Amino acid sequence: MPLQIVTVPCLSDNYAYLMHDDATGDTALVDAPEVAPIEAALAERGWRLTDILVTHHHHDHIEGVDALRAAHGARVIGAARDVHRLPALDLAAADGETVEVCGTPVTVLDVSGHTVGHIAFHVPAAKAVFTADSLMALGCGRLFEGTAPQMWVSLSKLAALPDDTDIYSGHEYTAANARFALTIEPDNAALKARAEAVAQARAEGRPTVPSTLAEEKATNPFLRAALPALKDSLGMSGAADEDVFAEIRGRKDRF
Ligand code: ZN
Ligand code: FE
Repeated sequence: MPLQIVTVPCLSDNYAYLMHDDATGDTALVDAPEVAPIEAALAERGWRLTDILVTHHHHDHIEGVDALRAAHGARVIGAARDVHRLPALDLAAADGETVEVCGTPVTVLDVSGHTVGHIAFHVPAAKAVFTADSLMALGCGRLFEGTAPQMWVSLSKLAALPDDTDIYSGHEYTAANARFALTIEPDNAALKARAEAVAQARAEGRPTVPSTLAEEKATNPFLRAALPALKDSLGMSGAADEDVFAEIRGRKDRF
């Protein structure tokens, strides 16, 4: 029985995710922007919340953690390096550590940049990675705490996962990201097609997540900073990958 993943829209543009395993009956939540929609999604399916996985300390990702933990007795897992500013953790995980969740191994990846201590959760059995505000659909998180080289290392780590990995990011920012991406690669046919699909999905009120890593590699400008043709088009021929990434990130900040 495959793991089921349910997207739970929260607040104005956040996503939380439920991952459920029928064999164990376990259900894990990734991030808790608010309690009500998550409780409703659990109740609708008759699922029991067993684990809460926390990606980073921003309030729009942790607001509901304590209440959900108290209500369900769920185990809370987050980054060891961020224990001082996360809700109380039952399991503090380090980069590269594997923990069993929903009866399957989940690997914690440090993907610092948006914050220092931001983690992603890779679930090989589900071909899924929960990236929150690191790698996002057609974008990446703003650099509030980390540096561009740090985020480039984080994105490269995610880009090394299998191409058919689904990318579950933390926000519905894809339409705006698409508009920006087209300023970097106006002639990228895959990007143009994806931008149209994204506009269509949003017009119908559908989420644009998850995407696959293969799609992101073909269309996300932040993952494409190492491409010689992209460097050339930015007038940065021969520049270091991380410097090209920094230039693209800077342009997005001013977009
Ligand atoms: Zn954030
Ligand atoms: Fe966020």
